[in-house]
Amino acid sequence: MQEVFNYIDGLFSPSVDGGHLENLNPATGEVISTIPRSLQADVEHAASAALRAQPAWNALSLEQRALWLDRIADALEEKHEHIAQSESLDTGKPIALARRVDAARSVDNFRFFAEFAREQTEMTFKMDDAMNYVHRNGLGVVGLITPWNLPLYLLSWKVAPALLMGNTVVAKPSELTPLTANILAETLHELNLPKGVFNLVHGLGPEVGQAILEHPGIKGISFTGGTATGRIVAATAAPMFKKLSLELGGKNATIILDDADLDIAVKGAVRAAFTNSGQVCLCGSRLLVQSSIADAFLPAFIAEVEAMNIGAPSDETSQISSIISREHLHKVESYIELALQEGGDILTGGTRAMTGPVGPDAHGAYLAPTVIGGLSHLSRCATEEIFGPVVTVHIFDTLEQATEMANATEYGLAGSIWTKDVAQGRALAQTIDTGIVWINTWLHRDLRTPFGGVKNSGVGREGGQWSLGFFSETTNICVIDPK
Ligand code: NAD
Repeated sequence: MQEVFNYIDGLFSPSVDGGHLENLNPATGEVISTIPRSLQADVEHAASAALRAQPAWNALSLEQRALWLDRIADALEEKHEHIAQSESLDTGKPIALARRVDAARSVDNFRFFAEFAREQTEMTFKMDDAMNYVHRNGLGVVGLITPWNLPLYLLSWKVAPALLMGNTVVAKPSELTPLTANILAETLHELNLPKGVFNLVHGLGPEVGQAILEHPGIKGISFTGGTATGRIVAATAAPMFKKLSLELGGKNATIILDDADLDIAVKGAVRAAFTNSGQVCLCGSRLLVQSSIADAFLPAFIAEVEAMNIGAPSDETSQISSIISREHLHKVESYIELALQEGGDILTGGTRAMTGPVGPDAHGAYLAPTVIGGLSHLSRCATEEIFGPVVTVHIFDTLEQATEMANATEYGLAGSIWTKDVAQGRALAQTIDTGIVWINTWLHRDLRTPFGGVKNSGVGREGGQWSLGFFSETTNICVIDPK
C-alpha cells in the first residue's frame, strides 16, 4: 500500500499532526493508499513557502517559465502509462479512457500553455504624447482546488497557467483521487523546480480546502467542483477580495434535430451521456429529441448503449467501469428510485452491472448505463445534477420548445446540437444559456477557446487568454519620453 505525503517547500512530509485518511480503489473497495489529513497548520506552511518563493519565480521572464512548462510536459509524457494506471486505479475509470483522455491531456495542458505564451505580444496603446504598456504580473500565491472526475487533467489545467504567469501554488486535489497529483509533485521535485513554487496539501475539503480559502496570503482561488461547494468557496473568499474562478456543476442538453445524421447523432449522444460513466461536468445527461425523429433515434440509441462493454478498469476493452465510490453509487441509485416515483420508465440499465468479473456482490461501485424516459423535463431527475451513468429522454416538437427545455435548469455549462443544417444549429445554440455549445460534436476542445459556465455552473472563464488573464494582475505603464 502506498503512503502519499504532502509536498511543501520542496519536501515530502506527513501532516503536522500526523493524521491521515485511507484512499480506496472504487472498483474493489480495497485501500490503495493513505494520504495526510492536513489541517490549517499544513496550509500555513504551504502558503508561507509559496509566499517566500513567489518574488523570485515572478522575476523570471515569461520565456523562462515557459521553458519550465516544456520540461514538465516532457517529464509527464515519459510517465504517461504510470499516470494512466494510477488514474484508473484511483477513479475506477477504464484504462483506455485514462490513457486517451487523462494522461494525454495532462501533458497537453503544460505543452499548450508553454506554446501559447510564446505567441503573446505586448499590448500597447499609443497616444499623441505618450505610450501605454500593458503589463501582466503574477497575482502572488494562488489556491487550486480540484475534483475527482478528471484529477490530473483538471489540476494541470490550473497549475500550468498559474506557474506560467508568475504565481506560486498551494494545490489541493480531491481526497478521493490523490495519486496523480502526487505524481505531479514527484515530477516537479525530480526536475528541481525551485522549492516553494508548487505545494500540495492533501485532505478533506471542509478542513484543508477551507483553510486555503481563508488564508489571507492566498490572493486567488481557482476552484472546480460542485455548485454547493462553489457557494461556500464564494462566500468565504469574496469578502476577502480574492480573485475567484468557479467551474461548477452542469446538467447539459444533447439536442437531436429531425434532420440529424442518425448514425453520427446516436454515437455522439452515447459518448456525450456515458463518457467516464457520465462523470464529466460536460456530459449530456438530458437527451432532447425532436418528435418526428424519435421513433428512429431512440431504439438505435438504446441499442448502442446496450452494446457498451462493462468491465473492470484494467480490462482494455471496458467502456464503462466503476463510478467513483459506493457512496456516490447510492446517490445515483437514489435518483433512479426517484425517477420511478416521478413516473419515469427505465428504458435500459438501472441495475448494478453483473457481467464478467463484476458480480452483484462485488465491492465495486458499478452501475449499468441507464436511460430513463417518461419524465417531465421539469422533474428533479431532469433538472438536478446526478453525475453518473444516467440520462433522461425528453421529446419536443419545435425549436422554441427545445430552447425552453434546454434552459429549464439552474445550470448552464454546455450542450450539443445535432443537425445537418449548421446555420439552424448555430441560431439555436445562441438561444441556449450555456458557456459552450457543440454542433455535431461533443467535448471537442481547442484549448485557446473560453471554457466556463453561466447561471449556477460557474463564474469566470478558463482557457487560452482567459486563463492568462485570471492568473495575472493586469497593470498599465504610461510613458512620456522627455527626449
Ligand atoms: P466537490 O465540490 O465535492 O469537491 C471539489 C473539491 O472541493 C474537492 O477537492 C473537495 O475536497 C473540495 N472541497 C469540498 N468542500 C470544500 C470546502 N468547504 N472548502 C474548500 N474546498 C472544499 O466536487 P466533487 O464531488 O469532487 O466533483 C464533482 C463536481 O465537480 C460535479 O458537480 C461536477 O459537475 C463538477 N465539475 C465541474 C467541472 C467544470 O469545469 N465546470 C469540471 C469537473 C467537475
